[in-house]
Amino acid sequence: MTQTAVAAPTDFSEFQLDARLLRAIEESGYTTPTPIQAQAIPVVLTGQDVMGSAQTGTGKTASFVLPLLQKILPHASSSTSPARHPVRALVLCPTRELAVQVAENAEKYAKHTPIRTAVVFGGMDMKQQALQIRGGIELLIATPGRLLDHLEQGNVSLAQVNYLVLDEADRMLDMGFLPDLQRILNVLPKQRQTLLFSATFSPEIRKLAESYQKNPITIETAQRNATSNNITQTVYSVADKLQKRSALVQLIQEQNVEQAMIFVNTKIEARELTRFLQRARINAQTIHGDQTQSERLATLAQFKDNSVPILVATDVAARGLDIAQMPCVINFDLPYNAEDYVHRIGRTGRAGAQGRALSIVTPNDDRLLAAIAKLTKTTFTAIPLEPVIPERAARPERSARQDKSEERVKNNERSAPMRRSAVEERELDYLRRKMNLSNDPFFNQPYQPATSSPAPVAPTDLISPTKQLKPVAKPNVAALFMSKKR
Ligand code: AMP
Repeated sequence: MTQTAVAAPTDFSEFQLDARLLRAIEESGYTTPTPIQAQAIPVVLTGQDVMGSAQTGTGKTASFVLPLLQKILPHASSSTSPARHPVRALVLCPTRELAVQVAENAEKYAKHTPIRTAVVFGGMDMKQQALQIRGGIELLIATPGRLLDHLEQGNVSLAQVNYLVLDEADRMLDMGFLPDLQRILNVLPKQRQTLLFSATFSPEIRKLAESYQKNPITIETAQRNATSNNITQTVYSVADKLQKRSALVQLIQEQNVEQAMIFVNTKIEARELTRFLQRARINAQTIHGDQTQSERLATLAQFKDNSVPILVATDVAARGLDIAQMPCVINFDLPYNAEDYVHRIGRTGRAGAQGRALSIVTPNDDRLLAAIAKLTKTTFTAIPLEPVIPERAARPERSARQDKSEERVKNNERSAPMRRSAVEERELDYLRRKMNLSNDPFFNQPYQPATSSPAPVAPTDLISPTKQLKPVAKPNVAALFMSKKR
């Protein structure tokens, strides 16, 4: 793979883009190309494959959408016939949020051209999406599962796709989309330009690039796996997992955290922690993959306008969210994958702003913390925290059975209360999926076309939206802690 040596333009007019695109750029208020745009746009215009390392929030979307629109423009038609509007460019995204963001930007950049754009993703009625794409679309943005559904139903043909973008490719692999990607890639023309964007270049990503790209030009706008110098990273240690919630409340209050995204590893933890914070009169909401699209968008809007200043999120749900000027990220759980730490804390300290990244760890996290330290070349010295937790004496009504149960939880025994074993199950599921992923036969043997029709993407399980709990009359951390114990 070649490292790009293209001189970076400092003005959009240097890109030789169509006047209609330049007008849209101007109307978007962009004056200077961002580093990824300055480097990627000229390369994409030459028709070469690109392997780009850039996170969401860096202007990555315009870096591929603008040159692709430029390339599609000569074929654009003002005819109303669907046949005159075949899909020429396909952008695959791991999450609905990212797909929507890309589509919104693409629409903005294409608005003065006859090029039609559309987005399809799961969790929404297929009929309306089918109607739109059957009408003819040049630039299609999709999540892999939903695109397969539409392919299966004959709503769309990809036979004329000359441009493919794999956006946040690392996340697509993490989320187990590899088989879906294979099926989609199998029906695309072999003659095409393939652009792959990924925040990190893991060995799996490199294998994906080797399998599906031709001599890609590597473009890196930031040192991979590096964390920004603008972010102050602090690690706090507590004795065990039971103390974490109290420690979190204490940190939010004592450190004057005004707005933060709190990362947890499971959806269950996201919901439970949110309820806990709400009981502590901390205005928090949760965002995770099981919510409906409209719930997630509503929560996101509240977080963006700061009417809900604390967002509890899982990695999957938070991926691709573009939130400007977020001052603080808190790792309530350390991520299993050290690279996710880089993704998470990269949401703060953007565009030269100062950011804070706080992590709460227990002795069980030693291995994960060491992996993060190694990856980011950072030395962490954990600051011990002693959160205000209830004293035994404050709970005279506790039975011997309750005390024994707590002892078991502390010792991490399997007979812990139900709510903890459910969390553990989810964590195990996650780990199992990750192990299967790295053993995926795709990487070890040539691709075999699927004999059966592609499995439809599982519909999102609908769960009731997180209820706003009434604040308790007299909130204090000790009382909260006790109310969760049985
Ligand atoms: P992205 O990384 O593509 O999600 O973009 C992040 C945000 O930056 C979006 O809100 C874009 O509208 C905005 N943006 C993209 N390019 C530029 C630019 N050259 N100047 C200013 N803002 C930009």
